Amino acid sequence: MKTAFTARRLYTPVEEIQNPLLLVEDGLVSDLSSRATKEVPRNVSLVDFGDVVLAPGFLDIHIHGGAGLDAMRASPSELSRLGRFLATHGVTGYFPTTVAAPLDATCAALGRLADAIEAGGTNCDSAQARPLGIHLEGPFLSHKRRGVHPPENLVAPTTKIFERLWQAARGHVRVLTIAPEIPGAMEVIAEAARRKICVSIGHSDAEMSIAQDAVGAGARHATHTFNAMRPLDHRDPGIIAEVLDDDRMTADIIVDGIHVAPPIVKLFLLAKGRERAVLITDAISATGMPDGRYQLGPIEVDVKDGRCTSNGSLAGSVLTMDRAVRNVTQFSNWSLQDALRAATLNPAQAVGLAANHGILAPGSAADFNVLSKTGEVLKTIVHGQGF
Ligand SMILES: [Zn+2]
Repeated sequence: MKTAFTARRLYTPVEEIQNPLLLVEDGLVSDLSSRATKEVPRNVSLVDFGDVVLAPGFLDIHIHGGAGLDAMRASPSELSRLGRFLATHGVTGYFPTTVAAPLDATCAALGRLADAIEAGGTNCDSAQARPLGIHLEGPFLSHKRRGVHPPENLVAPTTKIFERLWQAARGHVRVLTIAPEIPGAMEVIAEAARRKICVSIGHSDAEMSIAQDAVGAGARHATHTFNAMRPLDHRDPGIIAEVLDDDRMTADIIVDGIHVAPPIVKLFLLAKGRERAVLITDAISATGMPDGRYQLGPIEVDVKDGRCTSNGSLAGSVLTMDRAVRNVTQFSNWSLQDALRAATLNPAQAVGLAANHGILAPGSAADFNVLSKTGEVLKTIVHGQGF
């Protein structure tokens, strides 16, 4: 069954196509052109969304939960519910993200998440974001920059513990956040990079030279830039200078207006540019819920007026990806197209999924958003379904 979708414009997101003609078959994009150059094929049902924008579905590579559900504790049916909630905010693929917890609990969570990832490949439920890989945020984090990750759950990095986590996740770990300055970290960075994991430096007090060594060992990304990092100082540049300076690195940031002040978001976007800036939410179970007390893995979090804290420290966010995209257009001079790229193609490239995700092109997943001109999500299509 072939379906043709059209609208006013489409962002691939690299290219802009006026009056696009997006052909979808069996959940994949089979062709993409403009109605200016191509007729709608016969025997194809045409869906015209009208005066709107089409863009790839968002990919959130750092998310702990939402809709009252915590990714480390959720049952399979609860993960489906989380996926449906995320799709209402334009996310079509996500990386459930762990926090530092006792190793046995982490391994049990990784097994459940691996089940969900493996089931997601065959379950084409409409308008449900799919878990595509796991982000291990910890346990190899700096005590000094741990944020709210419980100190008793932080572990010195060894390839043996890494192997245990990898086995528990049945190879579905796609991002590893690690502090490179901890003894043993460089060996784990090299091993994780060898397994094609996106090694992301973060929760770190590293000096600049250590961060450079981490890139030498295979790190290519940075986790929530500025947050839980040795602060940037003009005479002690530290990890942040390396993250912002090095074009081999992509980097992500939480653009909720709380974690990073808007002028610093603007500087970040200038430094990393349109090809290397990545938006994440770092959202927790409280997202989409009223103020109150919520769970983030083993941590209790208080949420008030959009601010999540535990013992006075920021503990994730209640940000949604559609809001992050719109915030970028408000905090900077970036267009909607630029901002969309930071939520689609850039994260997909950072984690090695850009062949099928974060882009609309022949052969890619037919996961896309129908957006207003200002970036509000009107509809989310997953696997070519849900229109
Ligand atoms: Zn996080």
